[in-house]
Amino acid sequence: MTDAVQYLERDGLQDLIQGLQKAGYHCVGPQIRDGAIVYDSISHVDQLPRGYSDHQSPGQYRLQQDDNPRCFAWANGPQAIKPYVFAAEETLWRSLRDTAGELQFTEHVVDVGPLAIIGVRACDLAALYLQDKHFLHAEPRDPGYLARRQQLLLVAVNCTHPAATCFCASTGDGPRATYGYDIVLSELDAGYLIEGRSQQGLTLLAGLPTRPATQGQLEQGDEESHQAVAHQTRRLPGHNLKQALFANLNHARWEEVAKRCLSCGNCTAVCPTCFCHAEQDRPALDGTSSDHVRQWDSCFTQGHSYIHGFTLRANTAQRYRQWLTHKLGSWHDQYGRSGCVGCGRCISWCPVGIDLTEEAAAICGDGEP
Ligand code: SF4
Ligand code: SF4
Repeated sequence: MTDAVQYLERDGLQDLIQGLQKAGYHCVGPQIRDGAIVYDSISHVDQLPRGYSDHQSPGQYRLQQDDNPRCFAWANGPQAIKPYVFAAEETLWRSLRDTAGELQFTEHVVDVGPLAIIGVRACDLAALYLQDKHFLHAEPRDPGYLARRQQLLLVAVNCTHPAATCFCASTGDGPRATYGYDIVLSELDAGYLIEGRSQQGLTLLAGLPTRPATQGQLEQGDEESHQAVAHQTRRLPGHNLKQALFANLNHARWEEVAKRCLSCGNCTAVCPTCFCHAEQDRPALDGTSSDHVRQWDSCFTQGHSYIHGFTLRANTAQRYRQWLTHKLGSWHDQYGRSGCVGCGRCISWCPVGIDLTEEAAAICGDGEP
């Protein structure tokens, strides 16, 4: 935090939401749905999960409420910001048979308005950077992703209450947001430290009832960030596991983890960096048209490695190995870094509590490579 850091009273967050709306943004923010914190449309601060905290452990996620005045005293829920840029399902193109019997193809153009996401955590900003690399940094760029990404404004909130499943400090991706946002907040008991980064963020900030943060408030924000690091007990054994993983492709652990793994794909569905997808055609019953649709897929499904009449990864051990060696290993070749940002979602939302950090340590050893 720097001299540019301002202080916003708790009620002032409503001014931020209204400022965003006035600037044409549809706002989404964290709210409770079905016992979990997810992003949804928001127009008032009262919709935020005030007083809620979470307990997460392998295979477990529980919310609890007390008289805590804070609205962001929890770690990430199951939903990342991925669905707002990489849609879980979307039509890519449509074919139509014209009156002469010829097929005509039309691209489906994604037309979305400005969207502001409030409450984004550092790990999800790092994940978005990786998704950008996948969808935008080489031709052809993904037009649907690009259309949504260009409309995005991100209000980050520094994480002060990591879950027991979080390990972003060990991947270097959190808990404090350092890039990729327009505005960043640090929540204190009575208000927020607030800082703009992009021009849009600075413009919005100028319209808020802020005052310069005091030295004490800045120190409290720093202290809470340090505490958030100190509270993380899980870690990945080193930043580049590629060599260790590929040297252990026949490790007995792959078969051991496969005895527990249900091949359900929950881990890939909640992972903010996974981008695998499947495509299918949906013809109209009268044969006049057909939609070509893209859906999220997972390296844990049988169909994902089906090629020319043959399933390459026929069993769960092969699929778990694919997930881990790609995510933690060959991503370094593709995108220059690991595909894991330490959000811990795959640990909490695995129905049998398989822990990626534990599996990586069992296969690669627990030290720095
Ligand atoms: S692999 Fe797990 S911990 Fe890493 S980014 Fe994906 S969901 Fe988060
Ligand atoms: S590791 Fe867990 S979440 Fe992932 S496929 Fe296996 S059982 Fe499902």
